[in-house]
Amino acid sequence: MTSTVDESRLAVDGGAPVRTEPFPARQPFSEEGVALAAEAIRSGSLSGSNGRLTTRFEREVADLYGARHAVAVSSGTASIHTALAALDPAPGSEVISAPITDAGSIAPVLFQGCVPVFADLDAHLGMDPDSVERLITPRTVAIVAVHLFGNATDVRRLREIADRHGIALLEDCSQAHVTRLEETYLGRYGHIGMFSMQQSKHMTTGDGGFAITDDDALADGMRRFRDKGWARQGFGPRSYPSLGLNYRITELQAAVAIPQLSIVASVVERRQRFAAVVDAVLASVPGVSTMTAQPGCAPSYWCYPFFVDDWPVDRFCEALAAEGVPTQPGYIGEAIYSCMAPLRDRATFGGSGYPLTEPAHPPVAYPAGLCPVAEDALRRLVVFWAHEDMTEQDARDVGAAIAKVATAFRG
Ligand SMILES: *Cc1c(COP(=O)(O)O)cnc(C)c1O
Repeated sequence: MTSTVDESRLAVDGGAPVRTEPFPARQPFSEEGVALAAEAIRSGSLSGSNGRLTTRFEREVADLYGARHAVAVSSGTASIHTALAALDPAPGSEVISAPITDAGSIAPVLFQGCVPVFADLDAHLGMDPDSVERLITPRTVAIVAVHLFGNATDVRRLREIADRHGIALLEDCSQAHVTRLEETYLGRYGHIGMFSMQQSKHMTTGDGGFAITDDDALADGMRRFRDKGWARQGFGPRSYPSLGLNYRITELQAAVAIPQLSIVASVVERRQRFAAVVDAVLASVPGVSTMTAQPGCAPSYWCYPFFVDDWPVDRFCEALAAEGVPTQPGYIGEAIYSCMAPLRDRATFGGSGYPLTEPAHPPVAYPAGLCPVAEDALRRLVVFWAHEDMTEQDARDVGAAIAKVATAFRG
């Protein structure tokens, strides 16, 4: 009797898994951040309004991106809300966005009384510029371009389209910190670039965000909006020239963010190296495919996405998990217009359906099938939560596990 280990036998069927060790946890925070945070606490004031660290953070973000202004806010969602509010759109205005994104790209549109409109995707998970242009109407005020998974939406063409129609281009760079399209960082093609510093993002403060712009008036509008509409002028009587909320950060977020500004490029490089290793393995595996870069872009891989083309994605991911590689099939599941009840069921403000029921506006609906390319991609999409503290061996294991499952499924 021989007892050779059958290496091709899937772990779900009782075979040996590719990997038994858990993947390493991410360590985004440095001792320098700890020291700055301790300093801030000992100073007795954590307020970010004119705070030493918050002011420094904003200046260094602006320098990093080569922008005139950076405005720090409490989340990525807040950055998008703040940017839209600075445009001051009339109720019922339309904002074109992407079908695969976080709710944080869309909820601010509704809170500003605007109607989200969805452009379908191109072959690189970017918004298809032709689809965007077809959706422009006299009510359109802005395009919120989403750079999904750190891969660029073609904002060169979107900026040209936006300028031709006299509308704003806002870039949601939550998943695309220091990511280049040609020589220029994403976030610099639009009128405003918006970033999240939520825990999973390339730079993180647990929660936090910022917006960058060259436009003085938009920067002023954003600074007021994040500060209750307040035009601060020292002490004395107050003036609130516009409506606003409180989306300020504190010195604590600035303290942990500042040291990350000097390493975020290396965070991106390490994620790119991880992706290159897995991509190279999957190139010779029939039945699965990889995300292709938008021409001219080096994606920054907020996560490592791939597609299962030939088999049900849930079964594939179950087998992959048994091999020691946990993944998330489908990313957000359904298109954002199907998984957000505020869009799907108009569950917005007190049963009114506002702003999706504005009398001035033609009836709005978000039926399944609205963006077929995106919906098809979601059915095949798998996300592995790769990060910069994973090693080349970790990447090889991920590639080997995917290859093993695909080979076994092909039979
Ligand atoms: C994370 C994210 C947001 C929201 O950012 P928060 O900081 O969680 O509010 C918005 N858009 C995209 C594409 C994101 O990935």
